[in-house]
Parts: sequence; structure tokens; C-alpha cells
Amino acid sequence: MTSGSVPRLADLHLHTHYSDGTWVPEDLVAEARRLELAAIALTDHDTVEGCAATAQACAACGIEFLCGTELTAEQDEHEIHLLGYGIDTHHPELLTRIARFQTVRQDRIREMVARLNQMRVPLRAEAVFTLANCRAPGRPHVARALVNAGLCGSLDEAFERFLKRNRPAWVPKFKMSATEAISLIHHAGGAAVMAHPGLNRSDQVIPAMVEAGMDGIECFHTKHSAATARHYLELAERYHLLVTGGSDCHGLSKGVPLIGTVTVPYERVEILKHRIAEHAEHKAAAAPAAP
Ligand code: AMP
Ligand code: ZN
Ligand code: FE
Ligand code: FE
Repeated sequence: MTSGSVPRLADLHLHTHYSDGTWVPEDLVAEARRLELAAIALTDHDTVEGCAATAQACAACGIEFLCGTELTAEQDEHEIHLLGYGIDTHHPELLTRIARFQTVRQDRIREMVARLNQMRVPLRAEAVFTLANCRAPGRPHVARALVNAGLCGSLDEAFERFLKRNRPAWVPKFKMSATEAISLIHHAGGAAVMAHPGLNRSDQVIPAMVEAGMDGIECFHTKHSAATARHYLELAERYHLLVTGGSDCHGLSKGVPLIGTVTVPYERVEILKHRIAEHAEHKAAAAPAAP
């Protein structure tokens, strides 16, 4: 950046209504434009459906777009979220696996609602599905449906009373291992980045993920303090991991949108793009020669 010029910033962790965000891609991009972001990435949970529309909206206003997803995985009983950047959104293996996770999510909604009903909380699964209106519904949709039906006063109350881990309506969901998620992202041509490590407090699983070829770690996140960010910057250096960051904005789900409140300099996007291109080169080199 030359002195006096506006810093070029990127928010690399964003959700839309294709998972548990509230915005359509066009709303998200309008906000990114208003904030003058140079680049954004879409990282909806267990889906890539919003990428095409987001890419189109970004192209129309000159914002650089990285397609992505946030896969739910686990390692040694820790829930780990893996961001996949630059993936081929038409990759058959990725789409097959994602479809399976979406079925698991839908079955889990029915199970959570059944548990609520057993506690005489009269929520209908259909109300959750109608509100979610996506293939990757999750606990935030159940929480919103509870609030809309007047059965809880707030999203936080819904999580605290019913939906948090080990609360009465919490249902564990099948997850692939974090190392499998890293392979899946690589097969689809993307770079694999551990999301919000400070939220999971699962540093002990990082070496296995590095061993599996993980590319980076999200040092900057809404829920990371400055000390937490510093800690993960040190780990990134120790393990030679790329550094990313983003707000994890879910639109208006919590009132004030977070987009642009956590960003990284555009130079970090260039490094990430370089890594994605390297993966593509290795893949091309490893592919059998045409007959
Ligand atoms: P799920 O993927 O269905 O297990 O839902 C996880 C999502 O729930 C996370 O990505 C968060 O966005 C959201 N979440 C977790 N805890 C809370 C909470 N206390 N209030 C609102 N949203 C939450
Ligand atoms: Zn979410
Ligand atoms: Fe997450
Ligand atoms: Fe997220």
C-alpha cells in the first residue's frame, strides 16, 4: 500500500441464507461494496450453493471473490470447522459428500424438534424447514423458529436452554474427520484452513491436521481476542501455515451485521490464491496423460 491510499481489505468468512446467514448473496455483496472491501469469500456451512450468485454480484461491482465452504468435521472428539477456499464448486466427490452432510443436517432438525416436543415445546419441524429454506439447516434455524413462535425470548436463550452441547434438545451430528475434510478440500482443488481455532480450544489436534496437509489457520476472527490472534499467528509461523481472517458474519441474525469488522490485508488473499494455484498445478501434474 502506498502512503495515503485506502488499505485493500478482505473478509474471508461470510455466510448467506444458503446456510444459517440471513442475507441473500446480493445483500452480502452490497454490504461488501458499501464497506469498500477489495475481496470477500463465501463460506456457508456444508454447501457451495451460494457461490455462483455471489461471484456474479461481486463481478458486477469489481470485488474479488473466492468461492468457499465451511465443512463441519471432528478430530479426537473436538468439533473442527474447515474452510475450503478456491474449491471447484462442481467437483463430483465434493458435491456427493456435501449432499450426505445436508441429509444428516435435515434428519438432525427432525430429531431436535422431536426432543423439544417431548419436553412439551410445541415446535413443528416444518416451521424450521420453512424458515431455513435451505439444504443445510442448523441449530440457528431451530433457535429462530423458537423465537418466532414465542417459545423463547432470544436466540441466546434458545441455545442456553435447549440447543447448546449437552442441553436437552442438542443432537450430535455425524461428522467426517478433520483430516478427511482436508483431503476432500484438496481433491476439489481448494486450500484447507482451520476456522476459528480459538473457539474450539483444540490446539492439540493441530499437528495431525498439519500432517494431513492443512494449508492455513484463521488467526483473525470475531471471537478471537488480540492475545488469541497473536497465539495463532505464532502457531502459524511454527507450522508454516497461511494466515487468514474474517468476521463470520451471518447477516442480521444477531442484529448488527459483522461483515468488515474483521479483515485481513489483500496481500493475504494473494498468498492464499498462490497456494490454490499450486494445488491446481500439482493436480494437473499428477493427472494421467491424455491417450
Ligand atoms: P450447527 O451447525 O447446526 O451445529 O450450528 C452451529 C452454528 O450455530 C454456529 O455456526 C453458530 O453460527 C451458531 N451458534 C452457536 N452457538 C450460538 C449461540 N449461542 N447463539 C447463536 N448462534 C449460535
Ligand atoms: Zn453459522
Ligand atoms: Fe464455524
Ligand atoms: Fe462460519
